[in-house]
Amino acid sequence: MEYISTRGKSAAVSAAAAIVQGIAEDGGLFVPASIPTYFPQNLADLDYCRLAKDIFALYLTDFTADEIAQVVDEAYSTTSFPDGAVGTVSLDNTEILELWHGPTSAFKDMALQVLPRLLVKSLAKTGGNKEIIILVATSGDTGTAALEGFRDVPHTQITVFYPKEGVSAIQELQMNTTAGNNTCVIGVQGNFDDCQNGVKMIFGDKDLAVKMAAQGKYFSSANSINWGRLLPQIVYYFYGYGQLVAKQRIAFGEEIDIAVPTGNFGDILAGWYAMKMGLPVHQFICASNCNNVLTDALEKGVYDRRRPFHKTISPSMDILISSNFERFIFDISGNDSEYTAAVFEQLRDEGVFTISDSLREKFAAKMRGGYADEDSCKAAIKRVFERYDYLLDPHSAVAYQVAEQLRDDDASVLLLVSTASPYKFPAAVLDALGKLPQDKGELELPAYLNQLSGMPIPPNLAILGELPIRHQQVCAKDDMEAAVIAHLGLD
Ligand SMILES: *Cc1c(COP(=O)(O)O)cnc(C)c1O
Repeated sequence: MEYISTRGKSAAVSAAAAIVQGIAEDGGLFVPASIPTYFPQNLADLDYCRLAKDIFALYLTDFTADEIAQVVDEAYSTTSFPDGAVGTVSLDNTEILELWHGPTSAFKDMALQVLPRLLVKSLAKTGGNKEIIILVATSGDTGTAALEGFRDVPHTQITVFYPKEGVSAIQELQMNTTAGNNTCVIGVQGNFDDCQNGVKMIFGDKDLAVKMAAQGKYFSSANSINWGRLLPQIVYYFYGYGQLVAKQRIAFGEEIDIAVPTGNFGDILAGWYAMKMGLPVHQFICASNCNNVLTDALEKGVYDRRRPFHKTISPSMDILISSNFERFIFDISGNDSEYTAAVFEQLRDEGVFTISDSLREKFAAKMRGGYADEDSCKAAIKRVFERYDYLLDPHSAVAYQVAEQLRDDDASVLLLVSTASPYKFPAAVLDALGKLPQDKGELELPAYLNQLSGMPIPPNLAILGELPIRHQQVCAKDDMEAAVIAHLGLD
């Protein structure tokens, strides 16, 4: 399988090269040159690791079966996923696909446990005894999941920058208690944009790159446009479908609806690829919060990021530039790289582009967009808890709410992609239930929510308060590069 750029001006490369490079030289994203077909009769009998191995093998044709097995078995081991990779819960016509049983209780673990292992093997294939230095700027979820993913992975080091005053107390504690002898966490006196700009500056420093190369060190990123992060996400759509068959909620071959809380469009795009491979899907529901740029793109054909940015209780969906949407446009345009390059250059330069009606017709029936504001998200959390004794986190609640708005007939079963444990966002969840205590700090809230709901606290969050603090470095926003240089011993 070869990988081509959505902008058409870079040569096709192997999977290993696409994973090492991350982004194509022409500024486009790597996509598989063709989508393989897959929909085995015995889907319902396959365990998560078997499925992952089979699907990876179709896309990573330059990897041996042994290499793939090693990556998968390590990534989804019971050390990282004590209750199994994915959980499913039935609520009437909805099946909740819980993707947060990993080490940081958010769905990003599903991909970030895999990417580091793929990256190390890809490096070996593309030549050389290199050491990769991962730099991440995070507003919360990505940093914690990336730290857990890269922790103690040979030939890698990871440094995460987060806004010192801009993440939740739980997220900060998750990061600052990360073990591993290749991890570094630095709080920045600034906001998320400062962190991101600082990381971009470090990536762009040519002198530093030369110094590092002399020592066999190279920078890389762990962001969600890497093919190595998208591929693992295809697997759970097949798994979720298989579980519906196993539970006899659908017949094999029956179409289902799938609702996904969306930010960067990575998660839902993986589902789209699963459908192209052969998964029977009636429609996807792309759910946004008030940052509803994708709703307008899908429903009105205008992608316009020139709008106010809202901070919401579903912060991982507070995104106005959904990078992976480029892969979607490339696909629905029939792999038209000229068109894709033109519209995404227009988005960069003017902040807006339109999707023609004829193009929109090609996906309108299969990919619907909708959004939920803060009040209706909270109301959904409350409603679901009262009716089913089940807690949704705010991101999953957005998807639940939007699915309820858009699904006019409830003929097909809904697979609801649940992306975070409610215990990662206890203040928002308690507030939605009208039970937020005024006299408790954020770190006391999980235990309080547990008393109220009886839902178990994920093990990693339950022990958080007992772990030693291992990182407490803070730096000014202009000193990020100096901090990296000192940490790597390059000065
Ligand atoms: C990252 C994230 C999302 C959005 O996923 P995308 O792939 O960026 O669309 C949704 N929910 C949670 C909890 C997340 O961490």
